[in-house]
Amino acid sequence: MRNNFYNFTITALKALLIDNGFKAFNADQIYKWVYEQNEKNPENMSNLSKELRQFLGENFYFTNLELVKRQDSKTGTHKYLFRLEDGIVIESVLMQQVYGLSLCVTSQAGCSMGCSFCASGLINKQRDLTVYELVSQIISVQDDLKVKITHVVVMGTGEPFDNYDNVMDFLKIINHKHGLQIGSRHITVSTCGIVPKIYDFAKEEIKANLAISLHAPNNELRNKLMKINKVYPVQDVIQASKDYFEITKRRVTFEYILLKNVNDEIHHANELSDLIRGINCYVNLIPYNPVDEFGYEKTDMIRANRFYQQLVKRGINVTLRKEMGSDIDAACGQLRLKRHKETK
Ligand code: SAH
Repeated sequence: MRNNFYNFTITALKALLIDNGFKAFNADQIYKWVYEQNEKNPENMSNLSKELRQFLGENFYFTNLELVKRQDSKTGTHKYLFRLEDGIVIESVLMQQVYGLSLCVTSQAGCSMGCSFCASGLINKQRDLTVYELVSQIISVQDDLKVKITHVVVMGTGEPFDNYDNVMDFLKIINHKHGLQIGSRHITVSTCGIVPKIYDFAKEEIKANLAISLHAPNNELRNKLMKINKVYPVQDVIQASKDYFEITKRRVTFEYILLKNVNDEIHHANELSDLIRGINCYVNLIPYNPVDEFGYEKTDMIRANRFYQQLVKRGINVTLRKEMGSDIDAACGQLRLKRHKETK
């Protein structure tokens, strides 16, 4: 049976080629065609032998994702709906930043983490995305707009550390020098705090940025907001972040959504700064994007600024995230698994 080419890391491709009587360096040649030249037909890979082109044609297909719909926002954000081979529809979001083009990639169809504020969890995880479905989100968007994506954030629907192996293969492919050549410092993986995987991630060869969704400075509140906290409580997440820095020398980003009257009081800012004091980290304050099904409200600018200033005063590196794409429901936490009829 033919396999999708974009599932293969270069290491796996080399092994397969050697098993079939070809050479390891052929994998470099093929990667250059596929990722540097965006070639999808082996017949056009003119420096490969006839046998190798035939082998590729017989064993691989090079198709990307089926584009169902694209929505363009006023702020230069584009939301993509892609249909997978089994009919599931997923979303990716392209953001124009001052520093480049950043794609927010979905890692799972649905999500089982059950955070009480996030639309992605409204439909439980249906399945993990395959490596090619991850890689193809990038290629399909690049093909559609004839652009080069320079930054990737794994912050779409799903928990990347609940689909760990596929996400790591995805990183290897997009970071490889003959792959999509996206630098590790241009890649961010965001987790709700699956502690053992933070340690695994620290040991990976590719040192991508790690973001941790914290959202609350204590267990009582975090338990209410994020089910995962009952398995991996705040102290364990904080310890893992310290260890992560010791192992990688890379700073962790803590994401903190501001929910009006829930976690945005001055005493929360104080508790947060006490909790992370001494850790080499950034705090990214995220304006909450309301989701109809939940009762939370967005913090107003005055409260958000007050929270921000309090952290600054206490010496924390903090930024207030710019909101993008909320006019097309493409902002954080608004991505959801749509039923097919809604996408037609
Ligand atoms: N599962 C991963 C990655 C996906 S969510 C994680 O939890 O980190 C990406 C970020 O968007 C997380 O920080 C998440 O908590 C945040 N988010 C979820 N719902 C949101 C909403 N309605 N408004 C703003 N941010 C939200």
